[in-house]
Amino acid sequence: MQESFWQRYWRFPIIWKVLIGFVAGAVTGLVVGPSIEVVQPLGTLFLRLLQMLVMPLVFFTLIVGAASIRPSQLGRAGVKILVYYLLTSAVAVTLGVLLALAVSPGQGLSMPGQGGEARMPPPISQVLLGIVPTNPFAALAQGDVLAVIFFALVVGVALGALRHSGEAGRASLSEGLLAIFRGINEVMFVLVRGVLEYAPIGVFALIAVTLGRTGVAALVPLAKLTGVVYGGVLLQILFYSLLLALLGVGLRRFWSAAQEPMAMAFVTRSSNGTLPVTMRAAGRLGIREALYGFSLPLGATINMDGTALYIGASVVFVANVAGIDLTPGQLLGVIVTGVLASIGTAGVPGAGLIMLSLAITQAGLPMAPVGLVAGIDAILDMVRTMCNVTGDLVGTQVVARTEPDFVEAPTRAPAEGVGVP
Ligand code: ASP
Repeated sequence: MQESFWQRYWRFPIIWKVLIGFVAGAVTGLVVGPSIEVVQPLGTLFLRLLQMLVMPLVFFTLIVGAASIRPSQLGRAGVKILVYYLLTSAVAVTLGVLLALAVSPGQGLSMPGQGGEARMPPPISQVLLGIVPTNPFAALAQGDVLAVIFFALVVGVALGALRHSGEAGRASLSEGLLAIFRGINEVMFVLVRGVLEYAPIGVFALIAVTLGRTGVAALVPLAKLTGVVYGGVLLQILFYSLLLALLGVGLRRFWSAAQEPMAMAFVTRSSNGTLPVTMRAAGRLGIREALYGFSLPLGATINMDGTALYIGASVVFVANVAGIDLTPGQLLGVIVTGVLASIGTAGVPGAGLIMLSLAITQAGLPMAPVGLVAGIDAILDMVRTMCNVTGDLVGTQVVARTEPDFVEAPTRAPAEGVGVP
């Protein structure tokens, strides 16, 4: 039976559809010129669809992720891995910001209606205090994402505590609730995919309007942003190597085991999807399942160093396009938001783009340039997912190195009482 046009369209990989939309939009914009601005609503629709998913995606992903933690796992190794995940994400976002400040990737590009009208973001102390909501429902309704991240994390941890409380009644109630959250989460992933299906049209419109106005010069900034993100990931990997070397971990052995999940993450663009391969690599490094069975799924949910780096660099890119010089206080705000946004990023393809729209709103910057980033997002997603997965494996190795109970020791008799307390 012959496939219909639509059947073939659905089967065609999104990444190619977006790239085709990007190229077609670029050519159309250059040929038609400024009058292509009539297609702008198609681009605006795409930006609105991205923003629409931020709140529900963050809320349900984080509840489900945090609920999977057993309180007893939050022993010394658990605390170590959490601290490592937070610190390395902060390093990554700082690296992204600094590299982008050095290169100014968005300079020379301007978009319709941009320039100087962005509101000033609040001072850093207010950003930090604002993380704790006075009314979580108001925070959800008003799109106050940092507060929602905080609330979702504590609800998730509480749900996890109930699940593992050992009281049959409460445990079964919380299992039921978690099943509902998981179901909603799956629906959100379907919606993310749906929005990405629309991306080729949105990207077509946004790039056409921009190039129609500015000509071919607009492509250079996007190439620079790609260079900044790839270069940043390379530096982050050097940083991991330094960390491992300082702890006396054999680099050759580590990177040869890491190769497989890194390649897998690069092509699938999904930390969640790569998880089984990352776990296998941890096993090959002689790390016990008691550690990686907990640290890697947690990392795939909350530790996104590549995404943090991408958010830092892209926020500076958008500020460049808007013609805004970020003050040191604002940059600090970007770093805090970048870390929190990366925590809230789901480990599925394209989720970082949705969280970028959050970081942009939080910084008080205009959304339109995000549409341009969307045009090359798949290329950026590959390398940031690779970095995300690598960060999880490095963290697990770092904790294993400092907690010998979590390392397989084939030459000595199996230690007793090994495992998560
Ligand atoms: N695709 C990334 C991941 O799965 C998330 C992102 O889009 O940044 O880790």
